[in-house]
Formats: sequence, C-alpha cells, structure tokens
Amino acid sequence: MSPNTDPTAASSVTVLGLGPMGRALAGAFLDAGLRTVVWNRTPGRDDELVARGAQRAMTAEEAVAASPLTVVCVVNYDASDAILRDGPVTSALKGRTVVNLTADTPDRARDTAAWASEHGVDYLDGAIMTPTTTIGTPHAVLIHSGPQPLYARHRPVLDVLGGTHTHLGEDIGRAAAYDVALLDIFWTAMSGYMHAVAIAKAEGISATELLPFAQGIGAILPPVFADTAAEIDNNTHSGEGNPITSAVSSMAHIVHASETHGIDASIMRAAESLARKAIDLNHPTDGFTRVADVLSRG
Ligand code: NDP
Repeated sequence: MSPNTDPTAASSVTVLGLGPMGRALAGAFLDAGLRTVVWNRTPGRDDELVARGAQRAMTAEEAVAASPLTVVCVVNYDASDAILRDGPVTSALKGRTVVNLTADTPDRARDTAAWASEHGVDYLDGAIMTPTTTIGTPHAVLIHSGPQPLYARHRPVLDVLGGTHTHLGEDIGRAAAYDVALLDIFWTAMSGYMHAVAIAKAEGISATELLPFAQGIGAILPPVFADTAAEIDNNTHSGEGNPITSAVSSMAHIVHASETHGIDASIMRAAESLARKAIDLNHPTDGFTRVADVLSRG
C-alpha cells in the first residue's frame, strides 16, 4: 500500500462521542489497526473499546491533542459545540482536522465551519445514512462535504468506516442538507407505517399479517422516485393515469377509516390538505408531485 492509501499511515485518530454510533466508528478504526483515542462526556462508555486496544483520554482536550484527525459523533450540534468550542479544546485543535459526523441542519454545519475557520481548525462535515451495524462493512453509507483537498487527505482513514463514501461538494452544508432531506423521507414513511399498523390493528390485522403487503407498498416507492425526479425538477407533474384528485379521494378514505376507530388522523389530514391546495391552485389534473411545487411556493 502507498502511504496515500494506507489508513494506518495516519498516526492516530480520535473519536469524540461514544454513543452507539461513536462506539461503532471507534470499533471500525480499531479493527483497521489504527491507533484510536476515545473520549466521551460521561465516563464508562469506553470500557469495551479500551479492552480492544483503544486509548482512553481523560479530557476532550487530551483526546484532540493526540491525533491529527478528530471524528465527532454526538447527538446534535449543541453537543458538538459544547465539546469543540471549549477554550482549551479549541486551542488544542488548531492546525488539526475535525470531521463532524453528528447529524443536524445545514445552517449549523455552516456556523461550525465559520467557527473552525476563525480558530485555524480544518473542518469537514458529514452524515451517516445507515445504522451502527453497517459501520466497517460494505453496507455503510456516508456522505461528506467541505474542502475537497482536505477530504482527499483524510479519505484513507474515513474509508475504514466501510461502504460507500460520497463527497457532495465544497459547500459545507451540503451533507447536512442531503441528510435532512433523506431523513424526511425516512421519518415521514415511518410515521405513515405506524399509522397504517394502528388502522390495521383496529381492524384485527396484525403487523405480521400486513407485513408482506407493506413490503410490497414500500417496494413501489423507488421506481416512483425514479419516474418522477425529472418531472419534479422540470416542474411538469403529469397526472396521466393518476391525477391528484384520485390521491385526495384515497387519502380521505384513510382519514375516515382512522377516525372511525378514534385514531388520530392528523398525519394524513396534513397530506390531504396539501394535495387539496394543489387542486385549489388549479392543478386538478396534475400528478401528486405537484405537491412539491406547492410546498416550495410556501
Ligand atoms: P445519540 O444520538 O444518542 O448521541 C449520544 C452521544 O451524544 C453520547 O456520546 C452523548 O454523551 C453525547 N452527548 C449528548 N449531549 C451531549 C452534550 N451536551 N455534550 C457532550 N456530549 C453529549 O447516539 P448515537 O451514537 O446513536 O448517534 C450519534 C450521531 O450519529 C447522531 O447525530 C445520530 O443522528 C447519528 N446517527 C446515528 C445512527 C444510529 O443508528 N445510532 C445512524 C445514523 C446516524 P453522554 O454519553 O455523555 O450522554
């Protein structure tokens, strides 16, 4: 291996934050043979990692001073700010690199990048799109943004986390923007699924009985995304064969069925009202994707 691609050529990597994801990241670095320094606000989360060879730092300052690269993975940017923007930690970070894999918003990523620039800290932002069990395996999906040369420099170490890494651009907020958009799909879909199982249960159908059909509905979505992306980008929204009026009728059935059983229908009511707004704005023959346009209009 050349020094440019050998992750162990890096002298050390520090991981700040040892929740389930931080522990998975540190574990992958250890498995790759990297000297791995770990720190967590609450002590005691590093025992297993230390048993596997990680070096315990007693303070965040000591942790960041031990490595040229620090990976942060905590609950949100309030937490990462509380760690990084502490005077001694900030001073110790000068001339070093932080990769922040904490999930939050694009604005918070940009704000942290401005802080890093003011304090001579090299900064990359990123997000992890897959569960802890994928880390260090081919199934991990990580996205990154920030200065390309900095990303290229640390790529060999980041690659140790496994799977697919995509650098989305120099705009530091870009990874968080993708993350928020993708999590919007996930949480909206999960909320819909929870609502669906509540209706099914009220009708005497278990989640297990519904499962094969629920999986079938889920599998319809990727081709729908593929078929409609260009229409959304071009703001065309063809409703041929499936106009938005038909969608509203289907949604009204769901609202009615839920409320018959005393189940909160606010999720579906919100979706129905957006679709009705599109109709009211004179788009009754358009497809459901017109809703994206209605939302963008504010
Ligand atoms: P959590 O999101 O619960 O984060 C826990 C970590 O945050 C702990 O290290 C905790 O420290 C730390 N923390 C919380 N508040 C503070 C604070 N004020 N100051 C310092 N540290 C603080 O657990 P995860 O490890 O699962 O997630 C970490 C990040 O990874 C999140 O942004 C999450 O969205 C993202 N992620 C997680 C996935 C998963 O499957 N778990 C999947 C994809 C992304 P302490 O122990 O002291 O409380």
